[in-house]
Amino acid sequence: MHVALGLLLAVSTLAAQDTPEAHIAAAKTAAGEDFQSLFQFQCYGPGPGGLRGGQAPGTPRASAPRQPGPPDRSTWYAEPVKVFDNLYFLGQSEYSVWAITTSEGIIVLDTIFDYSVEDEVVAGMKKLGLDAADIKYAIVSHPHPDHDGGARFLQEHYGTRVIMSPADWDVLDRRTNGTKPKRDIEATDGQKLTLGDTTLTLFITPGHTPGTISTVIPVKDNGTPHLAALWGGVGLNPDTESVKNYIRSAQRFSGIVRQAGADIILSNHTDWDRSKINLPMLAKRAPGSSPNPYIVRNAKVLNFLKVAEECATARVLGAR
Ligand SMILES: [Zn+2]
Ligand SMILES: [Zn+2]
Repeated sequence: MHVALGLLLAVSTLAAQDTPEAHIAAAKTAAGEDFQSLFQFQCYGPGPGGLRGGQAPGTPRASAPRQPGPPDRSTWYAEPVKVFDNLYFLGQSEYSVWAITTSEGIIVLDTIFDYSVEDEVVAGMKKLGLDAADIKYAIVSHPHPDHDGGARFLQEHYGTRVIMSPADWDVLDRRTNGTKPKRDIEATDGQKLTLGDTTLTLFITPGHTPGTISTVIPVKDNGTPHLAALWGGVGLNPDTESVKNYIRSAQRFSGIVRQAGADIILSNHTDWDRSKINLPMLAKRAPGSSPNPYIVRNAKVLNFLKVAEECATARVLGAR
């Protein structure tokens, strides 16, 4: 009888805690001061299907048709920034392109829009003493125009090989609007991509899209090795199955990131990984003088993923 009562209590306590509110509170705690934008977007923002209210500033809805013609340059242009010895920011104000330099050429992570790739990636590289003709691979995290729009330009001008997951190539093949790269390399889960002296590891983390790629990247800061984790897709879809996949992917990637000891978290939107704060700091940083703001403890990298996961769990449990 006591055992049964105890069990009953345990079960009811668990049930009482497993509410959307409890998971939103857990996400808020994990976000702390660092990841407020991510928390707001992931827990309260719209899904790509646009079924939910209010849109976070600067966040495109995947299903929303773009205005005809490119937006005015003054609304999106951002200066390129050298972030680590071998990692550069070449994105626009809201969206990131991360370029990794190796002994045998350059790998870019995402390609921003078709209208901005020349100004930001090609001209940005020139400003920083790099050459876009050296871009051997473009890893496209997922097939949304803020990340894949520039891939075709790189393919056509520099013979860049474009990498995406098979499931996401299928999504792209079905898409009828926007500039699309030609189907090229299919990523596999856990794939090591080696170019010269550098090896990235690609993980297929479904959720935001059926085959979102998240990447682990070795970098150096003034010669000291560090490890960056790039979470390939923030934002939840309206269907519960994809959100459940998202939770599984976030949990799995957290385990990978914990074991690998990653001490840098990167996103492909500048709002979510503190790039809007970190990049201006770095632009003013005298070499070797102050710590690189992107380098954090492993616990903080995990907190980012925790925010993404807990908001997703709240959604599955019925948060609005
Ligand atoms: Zn997206
Ligand atoms: Zn995006």
